[in-house]
Amino acid sequence: MKRRKFIQNASLSGIGIAVGSTLANCKPKEESNGENPVAFSSDVTKYPLVIATWNVPESTAKAWEVIDEGSSALDAIEQGCMVEEANEKGQSVGIGGLPDRDGKVTLDACIMNKEGNYGAVVCMQNIVHPISVARKVMEDTPHVILAGKGAEQFAVSVGFKREDLLTEASRKAWEEWKVKSEYKPIINIENHDTIGMLAIDKNGDISGGCTTSGLAYKMAGRVGDSPIIGSGLFIDNEIGGATATGLGEEVLKTVGSFLIVELMRQGRTPQQACEEAIGRIIKKSPNYNDFQVGYIAVNKDGETGMYSIHEHFSATVYQNGENTNIKSDFYNKS
Ligand code: ASP
Repeated sequence: MKRRKFIQNASLSGIGIAVGSTLANCKPKEESNGENPVAFSSDVTKYPLVIATWNVPESTAKAWEVIDEGSSALDAIEQGCMVEEANEKGQSVGIGGLPDRDGKVTLDACIMNKEGNYGAVVCMQNIVHPISVARKVMEDTPHVILAGKGAEQFAVSVGFKREDLLTEASRKAWEEWKVKSEYKPIINIENHDTIGMLAIDKNGDISGGCTTSGLAYKMAGRVGDSPIIGSGLFIDNEIGGATATGLGEEVLKTVGSFLIVELMRQGRTPQQACEEAIGRIIKKSPNYNDFQVGYIAVNKDGETGMYSIHEHFSATVYQNGENTNIKSDFYNKS
């Protein structure tokens, strides 16, 4: 099942949960049984390892293949993310992404390597692989973020081709949306998702990437969390990494991925850190019933975690030769 479907199926009604100071204080009591989504196991201690948001087996398989051949986690991240960017059927990443409310497909992406270097492009049009342009920004310029036209011009100057990213299916969806033109990015939770990927290579080095077309029918110029260091992605090769999906505004306000890495630095497991980061959003935004956020994380030992506000978030994990989509545990069990 594709990522959009997960969001569409998300049950977002009924809360009745007190908001506490941390998630540990306010977490619903029910525990997962064998049939329900489970907290992602923290007994995994081996790498190499690839983990990505949502159900993206082709992407994780590509990343694994790259690592298996002996290449770096950074190469794996780039090539893994490129798979989804090139998938015209995916309406939230790369070509085929749903446009902004003016009908323009604008892409955000970032990448971060084991040295803690970072590159990003925001609101870039007409280039299928923003993750690769982000890597070029990181490696070939003295800057970390390029935006809009400048990002596109830079991409073309280093050899990327301009292409029309608005597919027939996405154009049709936009035409249908225009009939009402309701600007409700918060409650249209089915209209956003993204791919965030973390990888540990055979040397134990960690890299990460994040790539998205952002909220569908967003205001022109809107940038979400995905390309912003510390929000949509953060890597510290001594500690671990984290990445986010969901309503970017909420992730930005809590600097979620940086928070998770810092919590792991202080001794939390990746699972505990993801839960705490979701707890910060719950505490800050009483309207959490209206949107979804999900985090995945990995630490230096190859332990992983994942957690979301609502049901139906999942991650794909490639480890020990197995490529598995795993349902996330979640906060809102009411
Ligand atoms: N986080 C992305 C954004 O807000 C969207 C997503 O994850 O679906 O742009």
